[in-house]
Amino acid sequence: MDELACRACGGPAGHLVLDLGRQPACDYFPRAEDQGPDPVYPLQMWLCSSCGLAQLLTDPTVPEEPRGTEPAALVAQAADAVERVAAAGYLPEHGAVAEYGSPHGGSWLGMLTDRGLRPADDGPADLILDCFGLMHAADQRHALAERAARVAPDGVLLLQYHALSTIIGNRQWNALRHGHYAYYSTTALTAMLRAAGFSPRTAWRFDLYGGTVLLAAQREGEGRPGPDEAVQSLLADDARAGVSDPDAFAGLQRDVRTHAKDLHDWLAAERSAGRTVVGYGAASRAVALLCQADVDRELLPVVIDASPAKQGLRMPGTDIPVAGPAELTGRRPDAVLLFVPDLLAEVRAAFPDVEAAGAKWVDVEALGSRRLE
Ligand SMILES: [Zn+2]
Repeated sequence: MDELACRACGGPAGHLVLDLGRQPACDYFPRAEDQGPDPVYPLQMWLCSSCGLAQLLTDPTVPEEPRGTEPAALVAQAADAVERVAAAGYLPEHGAVAEYGSPHGGSWLGMLTDRGLRPADDGPADLILDCFGLMHAADQRHALAERAARVAPDGVLLLQYHALSTIIGNRQWNALRHGHYAYYSTTALTAMLRAAGFSPRTAWRFDLYGGTVLLAAQREGEGRPGPDEAVQSLLADDARAGVSDPDAFAGLQRDVRTHAKDLHDWLAAERSAGRTVVGYGAASRAVALLCQADVDRELLPVVIDASPAKQGLRMPGTDIPVAGPAELTGRRPDAVLLFVPDLLAEVRAAFPDVEAAGAKWVDVEALGSRRLE
C-alpha cells in the first residue's frame, strides 16, 4: 500500500500486529536445481483500528502457487457444510448459485447442483458462495461489494473463512502469508457486510484448520431477523480472543521465535541421535516455519507432497527439495514431520507402511514447549 489505508473501510489508522520480517513468496516454488537466493518481501499483519480487519500490510506481486491436491479433510468439510446449510433451510430450491472460489481449489458447485441448484449466468443469484476466495482479493471492499451486488433480493451470501480467533488462540502465526490479504474475525466481517448493506443471519463452525466458520448473510431490511445465537456466540468468542485489540496478538509474535527454535532444536537432536526425519506437506505455512527456523536439507533432507505439480521443486527460501510420496518409504524415515495437521488421518491411512516400519508421524504444531494446554 502506497498510502496506508484499510483494504476494507479505507481507514488510515491501525497497528502492526505481526511481523515475520522478509520472507520468500510462499507461492513461488523454485526448481530444485535453482540455487537461489529467492527474492524476499516483508510479511506483516496490520490491524485496522476502525473496522478491525486484520490484513496483509504489503502486497508483493507473486506468481500463483502450483495447485495442490485437495486434502480429504477439506472435501469432507465441504460435504458436511453443504449438509448443514441445507438442513438449516439456506439452500434455495431450484435456485441459481454462483461460486467465488479459491485459487487453491475446492469447489462446492458439484455438490450444490446435485441438490438441484443451477449455476447462475453472469447476473444475480439466489446463493452466492465464497469459500476461502475473498481473502485473496487485495481490495477487500470492492471484492465484497461485487459479491453482495450479485445476491438476489431474498438471496443468501455464504462466506467461509479461517477464524482470526483460531489464529490467535492456537498461535497459528504462519497462517500469515503473501496472497492472503485478509484474516477475518466475525466481528470485522460483520462490519464489512454492514457497509455492503448486509447482515449475518447464522453461522456454522468446523474443525478445519483448527477453527473455520461458514457465515450466512442477507440484505438488511424491514422485518429481517438479526444475527442468531450462533453468530452471537462467534462474536463473544472474538471478544474473548481480543480480535480487535493489538495487544492480543503479542502471543502470536512471541510464538514465532519459540516455534522456530523448538523445530530447529528437535531436528538437530534427531540428527545427533542418528535418526532420519522427512517432512510432509509443502504448504505455505511450512515455508514460513522452515524459513523462520533456518532449516536446511542437512536437518530435513526432503519434504514429501502428494501434488505432482510440486515435485521436482524446492521449498522457497531453503535448499530442501520437494518429492513425491514414493520417497516417503524409500527414505526409511524414523519420523515424518507433518506440516498440515488436518492431513493426519488421511496420511496415516494412505501410508500405513510408515508406521508398519516403526516410524511415527509428528505434528509440527505440537513440538516442544509450544504444546498447548
Ligand atoms: Zn478497516
